Amino acid sequence: MSFSSHTKAVAICPICEQEGSIEIGRQVETLKIRGKAIQIEAYLERCTICNETFATTEDEEKNIQTAYRLYRQEAKLLQPEEISKIRTKYGLSQKAFARLLGWGEITLHRYESGALQDEVHNDLLLLLDNPNNFSTIFEKNRNRMTAKQVQKIQEKLSELLQLPAVLATSTLIPPPMSSGFVFDKWKHFLEQDPYFYEGTTNQPQNKNIQEMKPPTLLSLVA
Ligand SMILES: [Zn+2]
Repeated sequence: MSFSSHTKAVAICPICEQEGSIEIGRQVETLKIRGKAIQIEAYLERCTICNETFATTEDEEKNIQTAYRLYRQEAKLLQPEEISKIRTKYGLSQKAFARLLGWGEITLHRYESGALQDEVHNDLLLLLDNPNNFSTIFEKNRNRMTAKQVQKIQEKLSELLQLPAVLATSTLIPPPMSSGFVFDKWKHFLEQDPYFYEGTTNQPQNKNIQEMKPPTLLSLVA
């Protein structure tokens, strides 16, 4: 497809530097993204005096974003809004999420603003979409987070994993994964014994639960 214009404007041409009518239109172009040829309908301008086509900085930005979107689609990479969705699912700011993952402070901001992500970063984000995987990483790196962030993440995880809500306000810290701690057993344990939660005033409604003996911490370890 050759250049097709849809509108005109009066401006100074950056090629011949004469003021005149500039056509604004589209033209099929091939951009190389990470070695892969990506065909897009690029935004371009054409000078009616010298007949040359050119792209403004704004055009170039739009064109590269279009090409990145297509490249991500082909390479099965997350789109910027999908990355934001994974982050906000756990109630985290870009800065807090980056800290949890040990990434540079602006890395996530760049990805969510349209920069093409690193493939390894992409795959980690893809895994973290699953709350069980997120929980594993959170338990490993929780010491990087503030108390407020920890509480917020626990609340979100509690919703996503359908744990008793009281987990979110519990001051009880689960044993480290390295001790052989099994998340499912922990979850089951909390569901069975509300009295075990530290700092809660909840009283069990179920008589069976009231009579139940709390399990020992050892029973949580594989
Ligand atoms: Zn010109």
